[in-house]
Amino acid sequence: MGDISGKCLCEAVQYRICGSLGPIYNCHCSKCRRWHGAAFRTRASFKREQFSWLSGADNLSSYASSDNVTRYFCSTCGSPLISTYKDHPDVLGIALGGLEGDISGRPQAHLFTDSKASWHQITDDLPQHSGWPGTESAVRKTVD
Ligand SMILES: [Zn+2]
Ligand SMILES: [Zn+2]
Repeated sequence: MGDISGKCLCEAVQYRICGSLGPIYNCHCSKCRRWHGAAFRTRASFKREQFSWLSGADNLSSYASSDNVTRYFCSTCGSPLISTYKDHPDVLGIALGGLEGDISGRPQAHLFTDSKASWHQITDDLPQHSGWPGTESAVRKTVD
């Protein structure tokens, strides 16, 4: 369980996550697609206490994409970084694309596949859910 590090495209913002991530999901919801400009957002949740900014904490911008969720990104290069949740203030969500090196986990499922881009075809065998998996913990239920 080594530390995980990551950074934005312009490298102004750098961060570290101590310990391991929660379950990893590919989120196909329209908000994640727009935020990332991609077919889906690969993301994981973890405890806020695991997280620290190493640099660039003063170079963040944020956008509240719903009453519950605020998304933080680099003010210079626009890279998506973390999400915070009003209903779970002790939890953060992270975009996996910014991580350095390897991690132990792999994506477990596709979420919000009802909102999937019509031009994207899911070709793996991972479970597909129209929302969040029904019997998940509070961490997993947190919408990003
Ligand atoms: Zn940046
Ligand atoms: Zn999403």
